[in-house]
Amino acid sequence: MNTARGSGLLHRQFTAAALLCLTLAWPGPQLLAWDAQGHRVITCLALDAVSLSDVPWLATPATHERILFQANEPDRRRSWPSPVLRHINAPDHYLNIDDLPQFGLRLAALPRFRRDYLRRLVLADIPRRLSTDAEANRDPAETLSRPGFLAHAMAEAYARLQAALHQARILEGDRHGVYDQQPREQARANVIYELGRLSHLVGDGSQPLHTTRHFNGWRGSNPGGYTTDRAFHHKVDGRPGDHAALTCSALAAGLGPLPRPAPDDPWLDILTYLEETYALVQPLYHLEQAGDLDGEKGTRFTAARLRAGAAMLAGLLRAALDSTRPTAAEPHREQSSRNPGPAR
Ligand SMILES: [Zn+2]
Repeated sequence: MNTARGSGLLHRQFTAAALLCLTLAWPGPQLLAWDAQGHRVITCLALDAVSLSDVPWLATPATHERILFQANEPDRRRSWPSPVLRHINAPDHYLNIDDLPQFGLRLAALPRFRRDYLRRLVLADIPRRLSTDAEANRDPAETLSRPGFLAHAMAEAYARLQAALHQARILEGDRHGVYDQQPREQARANVIYELGRLSHLVGDGSQPLHTTRHFNGWRGSNPGGYTTDRAFHHKVDGRPGDHAALTCSALAAGLGPLPRPAPDDPWLDILTYLEETYALVQPLYHLEQAGDLDGEKGTRFTAARLRAGAAMLAGLLRAALDSTRPTAAEPHREQSSRNPGPAR
């Protein structure tokens, strides 16, 4: 019995190790949307565009630098070779809007909650066929079989930022010195973490190739004769155009009026934002086809996309600030229930 159980365990361990090797060997789409500098520029533009006078600690250069760093954390996670992390993290970075109809869905009527959406995807899959374990291990992120979760990830990140800001502002409002400095610092760190994550996802949503099944060269029927080059995504990620014209200071002047997403629930604003990005998929392929991607037109295109991401992020940040001021009673309630002070 023991031997059989032992060999069974050994077999399972061997199988798991073999699958892990398979997974790690699979090249998989490591498509990151903007490169690290692109995400930093979007974040920098947005932080400069929003008045942070209500939360002065959020306005310091040191805090900004931490948020800029954090804006690239979701892509650092994509690089960590864990199948479970890839499975849960990678599909949050894109939404293939043109794949939705094959699941009986459309963007304007996308189920608002992640699990409702997932249920619709799974139900639509049943008449086809469920993937085998081997197939699932070749594509743990389901990049090739699911449209992605970017809209949901953005909405969830916004709500998490709201919750973190609200908590930090409650502790800031402690006028009686009830709390140690550490909880206050941790609450601020939570805001930095969540704002960085939101910035990353909003930035991904401004890159047209993160909204389409043609995310890395055109796939399938190709009447427009667009590029099928599997390096195309990487090229767009690298911010085509003149990099000197694509810095935070160079782009700030043209940011324009910020959008005003609904503070309590910006779901429809997020869908509109992604739809506007999706409308630029073919123009982007056109630019490449005409050889204009590296020239002045490419610079203008990239600048407009970085600004669009920054404007949306700034709008969301302002909405989050407007909707998270604690009421007069909340610091007291905090003290009496959720965070009653020293445990020792
Ligand atoms: Zn990303």
